[in-house]
Amino acid sequence: MRRHLRYLILLLILLFVAVNEAVNKMRTTSWERPLWVRVYAANGDGSSTTDKYIDSLESQDFEPIEKFINREARRHGVLIEAIDIEYDGRLQSHPPQPPTGQNVAENIWWSLKFRAWAMRRAWSSDSDNGDIELFVSYYDTATTQSLRHSVGLQGGLIALINAFADKTYSGSNQVVIAHELMHTLGAKDKYDASSLPVHPQGYAEPYHRPLYPQARAEIMGGRIPLSPREARMPRSLGEVVVGIYTAAEIHWPVDVQ
Ligand SMILES: [Zn+2]
Repeated sequence: MRRHLRYLILLLILLFVAVNEAVNKMRTTSWERPLWVRVYAANGDGSSTTDKYIDSLESQDFEPIEKFINREARRHGVLIEAIDIEYDGRLQSHPPQPPTGQNVAENIWWSLKFRAWAMRRAWSSDSDNGDIELFVSYYDTATTQSLRHSVGLQGGLIALINAFADKTYSGSNQVVIAHELMHTLGAKDKYDASSLPVHPQGYAEPYHRPLYPQARAEIMGGRIPLSPREARMPRSLGEVVVGIYTAAEIHWPVDVQ
């Protein structure tokens, strides 16, 4: 009996989350007013190098993301500024890290914990919440060679981004942050199991002849296709666009030509 009750409670929580996400999605993809995106930084490895890096962060480190989204939104027919990014400094507590494996139950459990953490943080904070909150966890490049994956909850309006605490990575950090921001709006990944962009939806110019090498990446395709088997990471958002498939997923008034 108790076991059934536990399942029922879990089911109700999941139902609540699903309804909440559907409402959020409608609210955030109407594009009638700019979405207020707040970015927070966290020290992922607790090192003093990372601390210093976070101390050096300013609003202008996140401006290229705002410019990128607004530029692409305009190109796809959004008539207002789509987003307004604000950097809100350092977090006092650290968001829970996602599981490393592909276990579905573990991932659901983590996403509930992450939501609960974000809600608690918002309640205990004096300032207003943004429409979307991005939590960027920084790691020292001297001790961390590869980062855990970043996760933007689709319709959850929160994302956890793992990034390098190093100015030479600012461009690629911005690409990752923009990618996860697009996830929170409901955009889906457009790359395959070997991290190669899927044609046509993961390509910036899917019908360009010759098809390779592509000059830019599609934000959800992630990489710039150089040949059918090769792709490289964009160095900055200057090498990235939002393709029509992604634009349609987040309800931009796609101009099909
Ligand atoms: Zn993704």
